Amino acid sequence: MKVFISVDMEGISGIVDRTMVSRTEGDYEKGRQLMVGDVNAAIEGILSVDPNAILKVCDGHGGMNNINPTELHRSATLVRGSPKPLSQVSGIDGSFDAAMFVGYHSMKGTLQGILSHTYSGASIASLHINGVEAGETAMNAGIAGFYGVPLVLVTGDLAVTLEAKAVNPEIVTVAVKEAVSRHAADCIHPEKAKEMIRQGAAEAVKKRRSIKPHVVPQPVDFTIRFTDASRADAAMFIPTAERLDGVTVRFIHKDYITAFNAFIAAVMCSSTAS
Ligand SMILES: [Zn+2]
Repeated sequence: MKVFISVDMEGISGIVDRTMVSRTEGDYEKGRQLMVGDVNAAIEGILSVDPNAILKVCDGHGGMNNINPTELHRSATLVRGSPKPLSQVSGIDGSFDAAMFVGYHSMKGTLQGILSHTYSGASIASLHINGVEAGETAMNAGIAGFYGVPLVLVTGDLAVTLEAKAVNPEIVTVAVKEAVSRHAADCIHPEKAKEMIRQGAAEAVKKRRSIKPHVVPQPVDFTIRFTDASRADAAMFIPTAERLDGVTVRFIHKDYITAFNAFIAAVMCSSTAS
């Protein structure tokens, strides 16, 4: 069995604000220790079902170099650094049996979602994929689905677990904290949270065959609402961009990966326009 694990940071046990997720902040070292703790718990859960599982972990937060390689469970390889193809799910392909998203967060504007945003808090007001608003969970589940890989586990705050259930109610979820605002939450103790993640990961791999991959019908429409018009202006330099209004740009491509790549290029262009 091959399992791919994408890891973000905002949904990690105990993390509620940027003091633990930003490299320049004082508690960042504590945040990255908590991050690898949640990932290793997922790995232990998978290995409890299949001790020979092949595991690939992709660091998907910020500069994507948060997980300390020596602290990751030795049974997994680690994809780290950025930019990289497919971004937060770099390295996934059709050879995997299941995907897991650990430490994920809800989409921009979510009520009681810890550090909620959609890929770039500065640039993106909303993302719609084929007309349905998507956060990073749905967006990256679509990449896994393109390769025929089911998303089987999502961990993070309560809000992102509800977002995952909206993508597919069969996905196993583990809520390690419940937000009371965007920067405050009632957190389960990290040791208890890790137990829950271990159990969730084991349950998820056992039921992987009954969870359908999230396949987005083609052609694929990524419609991006930017946070201001100058960012949309910058995205218009991409040849296939269509301007819908002052802040909205649409990309329609025949396959999911090409549409996703246009989205990433648009985010990169827009970040130069601030
Ligand atoms: Zn992140």
